[in-house]
Amino acid sequence: MRTLSKEILEWEGKEVEMAGWVAGRRDHGKIIFVDLRDRSGITQLVFTPKDKDIYETGNTLRSEWVIRVKGLVQRRPSGMENNDLPTGKHEIQVTRLEVLAQSETPPFSLDTDGNDAGEEMRMQYRYLDIRRPRLTNNLRMRHLVQQYVREFLSARDFVEVETPILGKSTPEGARDYLVPSRLRPGAFYALPQSPQQYKQLLMVAGIERYFQIVRCFRDEDTRGDRQPEFTQLDIEMSFIEQQDILDLAEEMLIGLVRALYPDVILTLDKNGRMPRLTYREAMDTYKTDRPDLRKNTEDPKELAFGIIVDFPAFEWKEQEKRWDAVHHPFTMPQVSDVGEFNEQFEKDPGQIMAYQYDIVLNGYEIAGGSIRIHESELLTRIFEVMGNKRKDIEEKFGHLLKAFQYGVPPHGGIAFGFDRLMMVLQNEPSIREVIAFPKTGDGRDLMMGAPSEVDAEQLKELHIKVDKE
Ligand code: ASP
Repeated sequence: MRTLSKEILEWEGKEVEMAGWVAGRRDHGKIIFVDLRDRSGITQLVFTPKDKDIYETGNTLRSEWVIRVKGLVQRRPSGMENNDLPTGKHEIQVTRLEVLAQSETPPFSLDTDGNDAGEEMRMQYRYLDIRRPRLTNNLRMRHLVQQYVREFLSARDFVEVETPILGKSTPEGARDYLVPSRLRPGAFYALPQSPQQYKQLLMVAGIERYFQIVRCFRDEDTRGDRQPEFTQLDIEMSFIEQQDILDLAEEMLIGLVRALYPDVILTLDKNGRMPRLTYREAMDTYKTDRPDLRKNTEDPKELAFGIIVDFPAFEWKEQEKRWDAVHHPFTMPQVSDVGEFNEQFEKDPGQIMAYQYDIVLNGYEIAGGSIRIHESELLTRIFEVMGNKRKDIEEKFGHLLKAFQYGVPPHGGIAFGFDRLMMVLQNEPSIREVIAFPKTGDGRDLMMGAPSEVDAEQLKELHIKVDKE
């Protein structure tokens, strides 16, 4: 039976079998030390010339070979302990050694945190890069946070519902990724920029409390630390007010930080709550709508959340010469009905506030959401003032407007940028460090070589001709 590094303390004086990768080898005269790495940590193996065969094979071991050993768990001689390692007081006196796989010399060293290696190389050999404890730990913590969130929401009667990846284009401000339909020449699916309309339709369907940890796709130009595909924690609720969603999000975030990051300093207000500011207050005080509320920005262990409310509903798009929704067109303006909306819009569109909110963490926007418009008339009017023709509205949003004719509950929601949340929690400089297989800034997967050209035959089936100009 295999014993893991994290378990060897319980096996002192006994024989164990272990397996893993060679993380390093040091020759000390007659003694060879090998660090064995498995998913739980590192254990020191000792080879002495007593057993000639094993010793000689031990001598051939190189970094990243895969081996299986048997040996005796013993205490290291005094003075030889390594207090930096949880297993640093013990070592394995090897009595059997089997090489399971050899390895080429890795293109970069794996016993650093990786920040020294070129990023293109790291992405190309991501399966090696992930062997670093820092990366392995990021993926493990990402899993634990997802597990926490799933349990938290499930315990509150939320249902995780999967929504389609092959869908229809939604107007959320970014360019869609399109997928050609083979069976309907000239027609395309769009990959979801977010499941916004589906989750609202689930509210019409009576699910009442929905969440999903979901992949979203936006075909944007290289802009900062973004990925063409990214993960959202998406939430929607019926029969609630803005306050209810924000309270839920706050309780979940504080709970998960306390449970999974017990060592961090969580900066809250004097009532133990996340500070809430209006958009105006944030802009006046901090000159940004994603203020960094940490007390001491030098401290890598401090987390400061904040909630920003009352965003303006519309912004002027100079290029397109039209008003656009600051969040998305489904967001409820702070008006009582279409009449009041029309009046206010005529006066000054820029002055209309929305039931819209963001959550910020250490100066990053980690979540955003809104209360939705659930009256077809107001929703149609909003589409109109944003420059859509009646006919286009029917074509683009007819399904939603129709669904709203069949008993739509008041509803609202929020979505967390899960990669960004993990980046800040793990104190990493980029979301690429918390994603198993990230893409480059210009959308390439260097390991798989995607995107790639496809066979002429495949294109023909899809009724596509490529124009390379
Ligand atoms: N779908 C929105 C977004 O991706 C979030 C929301 O309003 O729930 O930003």
